[in-house]
Amino acid sequence: MIELVNVTKTYENVTAVDNVNLTIPKGEIFGIIGYSGAGKSTLLRCINLLEKPTEGQVLINHTDLTALSKLEVRKERLKIGMIFQHFHLISSAKVYDNIAFSMLAAGKTKDEIKERVPELLEMVGLSDRADHFPAQLSGGQKQRVGIARALANDPTVLLCDEATSALDPNTTASILKLLKEINERLGITIVLITHEMEVVQQICHRVAVMEDGKVIEVNEAYELFADP
Ligand code: ADP
Ligand code: ADP
Repeated sequence: MIELVNVTKTYENVTAVDNVNLTIPKGEIFGIIGYSGAGKSTLLRCINLLEKPTEGQVLINHTDLTALSKLEVRKERLKIGMIFQHFHLISSAKVYDNIAFSMLAAGKTKDEIKERVPELLEMVGLSDRADHFPAQLSGGQKQRVGIARALANDPTVLLCDEATSALDPNTTASILKLLKEINERLGITIVLITHEMEVVQQICHRVAVMEDGKVIEVNEAYELFADP
């Protein structure tokens, strides 16, 4: 479960996130939509403390991340996977190593890695690509690697930062299908931000609408898209 309590993030004279309160139960696919500059990305990055809130608390499974030391935050962050619009893969490393590196960083052994990486690749449908470099993959395949890497350390939460915005509609649909399968099979809570209504419409259970740093509405996805 994710709880944001009075979360505010200010930069110099910009209030990027303005007193946001949200509770996202375990297993939910929660969408955050809004125009560019609304504060979506900053809010998402507050959930794993890539941005430290100026005020307020962030609780993941009842642990208040804002009360922890930097070292402890780094440990907690391993339980929170993240995927990005532009994938953020290491271009000089093979698919296998892109995933292995994040497991090494979490202190996993070579044996654990050897067993886990093929499982992850199978889950995302890339069993035959372990030895490819990112440049040899399509955008959709790169995002599948991003998803495998994000799941490598068995997170309870997956954060998706405009994860399909760089992909064409068919590829977007297949990535969303994969995220839905992961949510259903593993019970992972997914929080995604997007400026594309179709994305939330396709997979989100509930949706928050952001404007000027504030959450102005939270609703069931079907309510949000119902005809008035
Ligand atoms: P693009 O660059 O793709 O045009 P926009 O920021 O214009 O992105 O938003 C895309 C769509 O998302 C809009 O057509 C609108 O339907 C929806 N949207 C974005 N922000 C909001 C909001 N704050 N409230 C409701 N719908 C929104
Ligand atoms: P969104 O993801 O909805 O496009 P952002 O969270 O990226 O919105 O940005 C929200 C506001 O915060 C914007 O006005 C943006 O310019 C500002 N902002 C974001 N990151 C920084 C930063 N590192 N320094 C200063 N201002 C920032």
